[in-house]
Amino acid sequence: MTIFQKILDREIPADIVYEDDMVCAFRDIQPQAPVHILVIPKKPIVKIGDMDEEDRNLVGHLMHRATRIAADENLTDYRLVINNGEGAGQSVFHLHLHILGGRPFAWPPG
Ligand code: 5GP
Repeated sequence: MTIFQKILDREIPADIVYEDDMVCAFRDIQPQAPVHILVIPKKPIVKIGDMDEEDRNLVGHLMHRATRIAADENLTDYRLVINNGEGAGQSVFHLHLHILGGRPFAWPPG
């Protein structure tokens, strides 16, 4: 079981900023920007590369909610990041979308 499943199950605490029947959003414990929120599906998809055809609505909803949460945080400029696999920086194997904002971001990313 991943740490994010434990957050969903309320086994460990998190600063939850949004939740509905499909997704949950909470503040990252080690923020990399003034605003750093993770949006996760309740369905335990391991990584974005594993999403099925049937997950298209769910992932669309995840992305849409992320834009609303960013707006609620008064962000106009922000970055949405999904790390797919260890080599790309994924460390928790339950799909999550990072919302990062509140500071400038460089491109290309590291
Ligand atoms: P990844 O590296 O997999 O893309 O992102 C995982 C993120 O989860 C990291 O930014 C890390 O700080 C965050 N994280 C890991 N454990 C916890 C936790 O127990 N609570 C919260 N809120 N965030 C966590």
